[in-house]
This record gives sequence, C-alpha cells and structure tokens, in this order.
Amino acid sequence: MTPYPFSAVVGHDDLALALLLNSVNPAIGGVLVRGEKGTAKSTMVRALGGVLPVEPVVRGCRFRCDPARPDPGCPDGPHDPAGPADDAPASLVELPVGATEDRVLGSLDLERALTEGVKGFEPGLLARAHRGLLYVDEVNLLHDHLVDALLDAAAMGRVHVERDGVSVSHASRFVLVGTMNPEEGELRPQLLDRFGLSVEVAASRDAQQRAEVVRRRLDYEASPEDFAARWAEEDRAVGERVARARALLPSVELTDAALSLVASVCASFEVDGMRADLVIARAALAHAAWEGRTQVSTPDVRAAARLALPHRRRRDPFDSPGLDEDQLDDALERGDDGPDDPDGDPDDDPEPPEGGPPPDGRGPDDPPRDDDPPEDAPAPDAGDEAGTEGSERSDGTPRSGDGAPRRSGEPFRTRLLSVDGVGEGASGRRSRARTPYGRSVGSSRWSGRGRLDVLATVTAAAPHQRSRGRDGLGLRLRAGDLRESVREGRESNLVVFCVDASGSMAARDRMQQVKDAVLSLLVDAYQRRDKVAMVTFRGTGADVALPPTSAVEVARARLDSLPTGGRTPLGAGLHTSAELIAREHRRDPHRRALLVIVTDGRATSGSAEAAAAATTLRRDASVVVVDCERGPVRLGLARRLASTLGAGVLAMEDLRAEALTSVVREVAA
Ligand SMILES: [Zn+2]
Repeated sequence: MTPYPFSAVVGHDDLALALLLNSVNPAIGGVLVRGEKGTAKSTMVRALGGVLPVEPVVRGCRFRCDPARPDPGCPDGPHDPAGPADDAPASLVELPVGATEDRVLGSLDLERALTEGVKGFEPGLLARAHRGLLYVDEVNLLHDHLVDALLDAAAMGRVHVERDGVSVSHASRFVLVGTMNPEEGELRPQLLDRFGLSVEVAASRDAQQRAEVVRRRLDYEASPEDFAARWAEEDRAVGERVARARALLPSVELTDAALSLVASVCASFEVDGMRADLVIARAALAHAAWEGRTQVSTPDVRAAARLALPHRRRRDPFDSPGLDEDQLDDALERGDDGPDDPDGDPDDDPEPPEGGPPPDGRGPDDPPRDDDPPEDAPAPDAGDEAGTEGSERSDGTPRSGDGAPRRSGEPFRTRLLSVDGVGEGASGRRSRARTPYGRSVGSSRWSGRGRLDVLATVTAAAPHQRSRGRDGLGLRLRAGDLRESVREGRESNLVVFCVDASGSMAARDRMQQVKDAVLSLLVDAYQRRDKVAMVTFRGTGADVALPPTSAVEVARARLDSLPTGGRTPLGAGLHTSAELIAREHRRDPHRRALLVIVTDGRATSGSAEAAAAATTLRRDASVVVVDCERGPVRLGLARRLASTLGAGVLAMEDLRAEALTSVVREVAA
C-alpha cells in the first residue's frame, strides 16, 4: 500500500519537528506522542519511514551493519569493508503491544539448536530497527520490562541479550517513537523521563484546518499513488534536508553561553536530575544542524526546550499537558544575557514567542516558496498553535499550574497494596499474575498452549540421548521432553475505594488528610493501569460516587467536591461496595478486586447489613482498611472491622511508600 506522504500531514508541526530532530540525532532519545485517538499521530510516524534517507547495508547482515562502520561485535560479522552492500530504505519496525521478549530482543534459534545442536541467535525486532525507526503504538500498555529494554537499547545504541543460554550483543541505534492515549493509563514517571522529547497532539479546533485534513484524506483514498506523487517532491526535500543535517551535525558548536542557557532553563523549570539538560543540548545541536547553522543559538535552545520539558515538569497526572511558554521565554531571557548570539545570522529570525511560524518541521523554507501552493492554503500558522494547545490559553489568562486554583493537598507516593495470590487478569502493575509476557519463573510440562522453554526441553532430553540411540548432532526428542516456561508478571485490578465521609471523619481537618490519601491512592492506581471506583457513605446511606472507570481525572473532581458530615452508615458502605464488586466481576471475571476502606471504623447504623456484606467481601475481594482514627484515646474500631473482613489494616501515615511497617493481618478467630 502506498503510505501517506509525510509532508501532507496537516498541522502537527511540533510532532514533525520532534521526529526530524531525532532522525538527525537518534541519541536525543526518541519521542513520546501523547494524544487521543484519531489525531493522525500514527500516520505521521509511519510516513517518516518514507522520507528518511536510503542507506547502504552490508549484504546478508541480519543486523543491518553500515559497510562504512560495521559493528565490530556483529553476530553476522566480521564484515569485509570492501564486501558487497545494498542500498536499503530506513527500516520502520512496529512493535506490537503483545510482543514477547523473544520477539523484541531475539532468541535462541530453535531449529538449529534442535537439529544441529548449534547455539544460533535469531535476531529480534531491535536488530531490524537498527539505523531506522522503532514505533510502539500504545507504549503505555507495553510491559514494563520491555519498555525498559527498549529504552536501554535506545540510550546505549546496543542490545545485550543473555537468555536461553545464548549471550549476544549487537548494535541497535534507532529513533524510538511511542504513542499513547493518556486516558488509557500513564507511563511510570521513571519511564516518562527517559523519552527524549514529548509532544501532545490533538485534533485541530480550526475549521479550515479540519476541512483540509478531510480533503487530503479523501484525495489520498481516491488514489493513493497520484496523491503520493503530488507530494513526492516535498518528501524528497525533507529527506535530503535530514541527510544534510546529519552531515553537518558533527561540526555544530555548542558554545559555553548556549550551554549555560540550557542549564538556566532547566533550573527554572525545576526538573529533576541532569537528563533534561543533556537532551536539550543534543536537540538544540540537531535543531541548529536542521536549520543549516554551525552554532547553537537561542532559537535552537527554545525549540529543544519546548519539546524536552513538558513531560519532565513536576506534576501529577491530573495537571494539564504542555508547557507554559511564557515561563520558557522568561527563563530564556534571564539566562540569555547577551553574549550568546553575538552576531546572529541576519536571516536567522529569532522566533516570535508564539503564533509566528512554528519552528518548521517540514519543507525547508530556504528554497523559493512559490512552488508549494498546497502548503500555504491549509496551514495558516496560527491555526496550528491554536489547534494543539490553544484551549487553555485562548483569553490570555495564565495557563493552569499557576492560575488554576491550587489544590490544598498534593499526592504522595503510596506503598503498593495488592490482591493476594496469583491472578490471570489484564496486564498491569499491581498484583502477581500468570502471563505469557512476564518474566520466566520456571518451567513445567508442555501444555500445548504456553511458550516452549528451549533450555528446559533440551535439559529434559539430554540424559536420554544415548539410550535413544543418538548418533549425529541432532537431539532426539520425545513429546514428553517438551517444557514450557512459566511466566509471572503483574496484572491490573479493580480498586474500589470505600470512603467514610461522615461527621466523625469531618472533624478537625481530618477529611483533608483523607482526601489526600485517597488522591494519592488514585494516582497510584492510575499509574498501575487499574480500574478504579469509589463508594462513599455518610448520612442516610452510601453512594457510588464513581462507577468503575479508567478515567481517573473524573475521580479527582468527585473527590474534591465530596460532601461530608452526618451519621456513619458503615454497613451501607460495605453493602454498596460488595454489590459493585460482584457486578463488575460478572462483567470482567479475570479482573480481581481490591477494596480499600478508608474509615475510623465508627458506625452508627447497619451492623446486620455490615455482617452480610462482610461475608461476600471475604469471598470476592482482597480488603485493606485504612484506619483514620486519631487522638490520644483510640477505640480500635477500624482494626475490629478489618478483623471481621479478614483484611489487612494500615494507619493513614503507613500509606506512604517510605513507611516500612507491614500490613498487619488479623484474621478473626
Ligand atoms: Zn553485521
């Protein structure tokens, strides 16, 4: 199928620029693209593969060695520098979310091992992606240890594989592009930080631009070949510009003044660690090369910072995305005391703070402009800015973060609460689970469904070779030798918060602490990709304040406006929670439930109801009681409730990750 042309994608200038800068220098560390579905983010990423320069590859090398600089450790090497080579287009490797470790990293060549007794290595996707593009759609749904492996490779430019008795290392330098829909779960902050750049994409709110998107899409669908042909010239120009920038990059200079500008921008945004400084420096160098300059100047630093900082600001998942550009300009002005741009090429227009031509990602604008009419019509400069990030700043008010009413509490990192036992639920980060994608924890007899464990199979067959009359190299296998690996990973759960909002809790500022605690647990659940629900009880009964959902922003809003006071119908709270869990279990039987009851245990009514609900809950859920009782005289009611439920009990202060006390488990005698 003819791919959609890169240059024909409307209105994603930030994304285009981020992709191109990484193409100029993959060491920037890749791009994380965040945005809702249907925003052409995948189209653009796939299109990039079509514009990257064609490069020579050593003939027959499965690891895509460059004939000019072959990998000295290449498993298919050593290569003769004068040997034959082929021109190959840049590879675009798409990594499916369900990919196994074998598929990604490579594995023992099963066939050769079993027939010839040779430990051959079957390259994985990371080998195919060398010198190209590795694209992971829905990277937030990928298993953590795979994301780690990808980011390690991206950072080091090499892959080390130690498994199944093979030990291999090969070059793997690629532009890593991950896309995600934040509504479907967040990346762990540690992983977020390891992506070099990030871009938020949204459908444009500009009518003209939207119309153009549709027009081009229809044109393309009517005749992909004709459409691609019309854009071929522009795409070719982009590819050539990438090649020129790559060649120029080694001679671009990062002056001390530019470097201190980078440092002062990072300091002003209070980013943790040094990674941001490094990424901005690399991206600014690439940007200067992309613009055909040999010295990094302020606009390069600005362009790099806009893409490198948004995901490194301190924030929680509920803050609005993007970067405060006024703050960036202030930081640049403060850091830029003049010496930086001594003579500044006259035609190197300092970028206007916003709304002006965005740092152009596509089509060089040095050649005459009259040959690209299609570009002019649809993409008025202002439209893009408005489309991608306009909504919060349309009226000139400061963007949220400073202007928005500050929430009183800040979430803290909570300890991991998990469901007992080993489940089989959807992948996530909370409770232990059997999964085809997790780490291998052993092997068992082949069931015909799992993954064959080669080493265990060979080990099982080895002692019988003589008795089976083996004479050549090949192993003599019997069906009974076959073993499969037993893998364990983590699953996501349904986490139900049952929150006591009654008068006894409302006293003395305690409700605020409760809200902070629940909020922190919500943030944690969000990062672990759980489904969450919230039940509250007060006054005359219990309410489902939040039906099971993955959209945690809603939960925060409900929490903030939670009414408090009145009597304490604890029984109703338990009953409603039990019902909700049972209902959800029918809908999604593999998703196990964790019930977190936040209360001081004081109940004013409904003890019979409570007892009935307790029986159901002991069967259907793992329960933790967060004891909110305070003061010198404590009644220990929450502890008693926990005991009735067969639940663990935690004091509110023990919820913090730093607290090392273990959950006390007191099962009723
Ligand atoms: Zn090679």
